[in-house]
Amino acid sequence: MKQFLSRSSSLTTLQRRFAHLNILRNSSFATLTDKDITQFESLLGPNGILTGDAVEPHNSDWTKKYHGHSKLVLKPKTTEEVSAILRICDDKRLAIVPQGGNTGLVGGSQPVFDEIVLNFSRMNQIIDFDESYGIITCEAGCILQDLHTYLNAKGYLMPLDLGAKGSCQIGGNLATNAGGIHFIKYNSLHANCVGLEAVVPGGRVLDNITTLRKDNTGYDLKHLFIGAEGTLGAITKCAILCPPLPKFRHLCLVSCRSFEQVLKILRSAKHELSDILQAVEFMDGNAMETTLSQLNFKNPFESRLYPFYALVEVASNREGTETPDRLYELLGSADDLIIEGVVAQDETQLSHIWQIREEIASAYIKRGYTLKYDLSLAPEHFYKIVDDTRDVISRSPTFTANEKHSIAVTGYGHIGDGNVHLNVCIPGYDDHDLQDRLSGLVDGYVFEYVRKARGSVSAEHGVGLQKAQYLNYSKSENMIHYMKEIKRVFDPHGIMNPYKVLPDAK
Ligand SMILES: Cc1cc2nc3c(=O)[nH]c(=O)nc-3n(C[C@H](O)[C@H](O)[C@H](O)COP(=O)(O)OP(=O)(O)OC[C@H]3O[C@@H](n4cnc5c(N)ncnc54)[C@H](O)[C@@H]3O)c2cc1C
Repeated sequence: MKQFLSRSSSLTTLQRRFAHLNILRNSSFATLTDKDITQFESLLGPNGILTGDAVEPHNSDWTKKYHGHSKLVLKPKTTEEVSAILRICDDKRLAIVPQGGNTGLVGGSQPVFDEIVLNFSRMNQIIDFDESYGIITCEAGCILQDLHTYLNAKGYLMPLDLGAKGSCQIGGNLATNAGGIHFIKYNSLHANCVGLEAVVPGGRVLDNITTLRKDNTGYDLKHLFIGAEGTLGAITKCAILCPPLPKFRHLCLVSCRSFEQVLKILRSAKHELSDILQAVEFMDGNAMETTLSQLNFKNPFESRLYPFYALVEVASNREGTETPDRLYELLGSADDLIIEGVVAQDETQLSHIWQIREEIASAYIKRGYTLKYDLSLAPEHFYKIVDDTRDVISRSPTFTANEKHSIAVTGYGHIGDGNVHLNVCIPGYDDHDLQDRLSGLVDGYVFEYVRKARGSVSAEHGVGLQKAQYLNYSKSENMIHYMKEIKRVFDPHGIMNPYKVLPDAK
């Protein structure tokens, strides 16, 4: 028999690592053996499993914050293989974590201890496109960008668009109910997913793949898997409703003196441009400055920097609906809301401006260790939480003057949907003591603020490991009770993505 596992790994070390989160490895889970690995290899073939060093990229996340200790990645090609895997894992009590593109930002797609990684990258086939209704049916491992490219060639687009589209998979998007930049126009994946196939522990396949727009035959179970973050089962296929590709797009980037002016721009964009409004995004001066400097991007305003920025995009099939100049005028130049604005004159300029917005997250990760909060808040709290967090850090005796100076606090996000991304960043990744002191102060402050303001601790990234202990800040006791009951129905032994979302679900 091939020797796959190193015998040196100690679970007590792993348990210590997560002690501060009060997470202990669930002792009812089995430990993977060479015999198990041989069984999976004979099921999936040699290209269907990864062991040894090849597992390592699947153990860590994009933010460099979460590191698991899996010894095995499984890469099925068919729903039948996923079903066999989940039957074996359930029988043997082997815990498993589904992983798509691994771009999630809440520590949801990495193992915490030694869970097996279930990777979907080989399930990447487009199955069908219904041109009459604009519905694409595909496997869960399709990369979002590939779906856009396929649909654009047919005159359609995916209703979901986000900065990680080159790596994230539609299965991961559904599992997180990802929002993205066009949510204001096309709404959530709950609205656009018309069919879904999922496999649950024990191996049952829930085949709800359909392209019917209407189907009122009892409970609509697919919605339970959208946003479940892989805690109920594995999504294997989906059917998504896609809008026609607009022929004309215009994008305007404006700068403002105050956040109140940004809110006025949002209001005029909603009023004046309602049916053609495709995106309203926001970033503060720190986000713009950090992105330009870390990624060496050209400043659309030459060397001038401003406190706040808004991006407004319109799209339409009727030429001349809004010319770029008219767009700028409608947004409030006449009311003196805008200090300076630029309107993209062609596709290159349009992509450049979008790139600045979409690469903000990458710029901070390049700068250093970043605490990331993805919050839903009412307009009056949207930027106040950024100012208040900055203030709390500057008044805290926990940090030296030099440390305070090095901490960047920024706000950006999908202002059209009330979704702010608050990031707190220190340079580099080596100062673990500062990282701990920072998260010790800021986590509690931010989530408590959100609870009091009746916001959501997760607008679009999900709960994962990061926010599992704060779920009750945004969900009532009764709701959490029924979430646990639902989890028990599909996953009685708790093997699906344990420790995430509902850490104490049995
Ligand atoms: C630069 C950048 C920009 C981003 N912008 C946005 C944004 O605008 N909006 C937004 O919502 N998010 C955004 N994200 C976060 C991330 O891209 C999304 O959460 C995305 O939907 C994750 O997809 P993924 O395939 O990478 O999933 P992963 O990260 O691999 O997994 C995410 C979760 O889904 C589960 N999962 C994955 N695949 C499956 C499956 N087939 N079946 C069941 N469960 C599964 C995992 O277990 C995990 O809990 C961004 C991330 C980055 C790095």
